[in-house]
Amino acid sequence: MTKSEIKKAALDAIEACRGELIGMGRDLYAMPETGFREEKTSAYIKQVFEACGMSVRDRIALTGVRAVAPGRAHIVNVAVMGEMDALLMPSHARCDPVTGAFHGCGHSAQLTTVLGTALGLVRSGLVKELDGDLTFLGVPAEESIELEYRRGLVKAGKINSVSGKQEFIRLGEFDDIDMVLCSHIMGQTADAHSWIGHSWNGVLNKSVRFRGKGAHAGLAPHDGINALEAALCAMNSINALRESFRDDDHVRIHYIVTKGGDSPNIVPDDVRMEFGVRAATVEAMTAANARVNRALRCGAESVGAQVDIDDAAGGYLPCRQDRALGELYLANAREVLGAENAEDAFGSHRGSSTDCGDVASLVPLIHPYFGGAVGTPHGNEFDIVNEYAAYVVPAKLAAATIVDLLCDGAKGALGVKREFVPAFSGREEYLAYFRDVLGAAE
Ligand SMILES: [Zn+2]
Repeated sequence: MTKSEIKKAALDAIEACRGELIGMGRDLYAMPETGFREEKTSAYIKQVFEACGMSVRDRIALTGVRAVAPGRAHIVNVAVMGEMDALLMPSHARCDPVTGAFHGCGHSAQLTTVLGTALGLVRSGLVKELDGDLTFLGVPAEESIELEYRRGLVKAGKINSVSGKQEFIRLGEFDDIDMVLCSHIMGQTADAHSWIGHSWNGVLNKSVRFRGKGAHAGLAPHDGINALEAALCAMNSINALRESFRDDDHVRIHYIVTKGGDSPNIVPDDVRMEFGVRAATVEAMTAANARVNRALRCGAESVGAQVDIDDAAGGYLPCRQDRALGELYLANAREVLGAENAEDAFGSHRGSSTDCGDVASLVPLIHPYFGGAVGTPHGNEFDIVNEYAAYVVPAKLAAATIVDLLCDGAKGALGVKREFVPAFSGREEYLAYFRDVLGAAE
């Protein structure tokens, strides 16, 4: 078969099972489970992969799933990845009445995209026309929630990282993968639509504790050291820095006070804060963090308090989508959706973060957005309303892109690989960065 014949057959195969795919999308949307608890979701996608005739490994990072479909040659290995986790949104009308979980970020649609790609390329037998292997990944825990539960899992030795993709990297699950196709629904339009190219900030999460000296706040404040004033001085120092960051670095420093003292009649001696420090590059994030730490120490010093800074509270690397891979996807999106519905978003930057950035620091990755939902993700208005746009179209775009990558001696994929410059030489250097560089950012 020629490349265009394979592509047409893949798109026809996905179109032919549109009803089945929409059913899967509905099932998964109605099965919201939060990170590292995706038991039902894991079993569901495993059964679909097995029905496609693939060998499946599950229970990776507790709930993750990996299925493999060999091509006729094994020149490269392309992964199609979906996130499995939901949010806790007990006030959403469609939440699980027992757990309060809801797919308010639409990750169920990502998983349906992965399943649809498997139906279109593997169940159809077309993978045997391709010159590379396909790997299908269901990855747990993208949302940074229930951190106490996750830290408990880390303490119990069940996982090492509170993010699913970071755990997959640590376990070596990306070692044999050459490139990754992910995707994400957006609440911007119910119509079939595609945006490819955005970049995202990285984020470094940190915990901070100011230690002062308690004393009677009325009788003997002179005997105390006020840890809350230390925190306030630190916040003012951080605010004094804000104007000094380069616009291009997109630095964000946001924080909350989780403990502000024990009682108003005692000089606060124990004040705790949680921080996120974000920026568009690893260098800018590390530099901004060092300046935040200086401001924190300055705040403590100003009133004679102590400060403990924990930079090991986790974080995600900045995310850049691969340009060459993105161009292939964009061409297919234009073909399938029409140019007016396929937007080139390279050059647009978002202040938010995703753990796809960690994967993209090691292998070429795309994370296009697609339409089909209304309302802001994570908001109570969010809902998937156009099931064809949310479940069928993105599977077609992923399958068509894979055909471009893996036909004719995997020429497309080899071109993507050739142009890619990883941020780290490999998994070991990546892990060392988190262990040493961020940990020692002070
Ligand atoms: Zn999301």
